Amino acid sequence: MTEQMHMKSHEGTYLREFQAKVEATFPGIVELDRTAFYPLGGGQPSDKGELKWDDGSVEVNDVRKKNRIRHMVEGELPEVGESVEGTIDWTRRYAHMKMHTAQHVVSAVVDNLHGARTVGNQIGNNKSRIDFDPLQLNDAEISELEAEISNEMKRDHQITITEAEREDLEENPLVRVNMNLLPPSVKTLRVITIGNLDICPCAGTHVKSTKEIGEVKFKNRENKGKGKQRLAYELI
Ligand SMILES: [Zn+2]
Repeated sequence: MTEQMHMKSHEGTYLREFQAKVEATFPGIVELDRTAFYPLGGGQPSDKGELKWDDGSVEVNDVRKKNRIRHMVEGELPEVGESVEGTIDWTRRYAHMKMHTAQHVVSAVVDNLHGARTVGNQIGNNKSRIDFDPLQLNDAEISELEAEISNEMKRDHQITITEAEREDLEENPLVRVNMNLLPPSVKTLRVITIGNLDICPCAGTHVKSTKEIGEVKFKNRENKGKGKQRLAYELI
């Protein structure tokens, strides 16, 4: 298993550069003993960046998780056992961190105001979207929602990364995800807590405080049938 450096702490999440050892290579793939690159998953796109070693370097175009983390590269490969320095495209990653944390805030506030659950999401650098069920907001309700989200952001909620037992999460009202959707074998989960607003099992990358995120501006909404509504947002 590749150690994923973002998982345990903000320190690991905010790493822009890291050192690692090459464990295996395949055509177009580099596997390391540890990595700060985020692999595609949970609605969040993978990181991009670069791996550098003594006499070479290669661009990382995509990162996938399949037991170990696969850095998808184009070009020359480092030797197995070689030390490499990874550099993450920070502009892209930090945008994802703000967007993903904003998603948790939006999901929590929509649930608080309208009792609608998040059933899908797609994070992007400039625009993200969330699908809610059931939800049918009009213009006035969207404005009210933006104001309430803005209030929460300004509260400077601290965000923490911890582990929690499944049975404790099942009884906690701040957990809004349907825990029954998780495989029964999963007993301990990585949990992202946003102050007293939200608790969510999630493997994504998040900022340390809601103050970092800025304002959520909803761009368009789309009714997806059967009472579902898709809300797209940007950060300003
Ligand atoms: Zn998440």
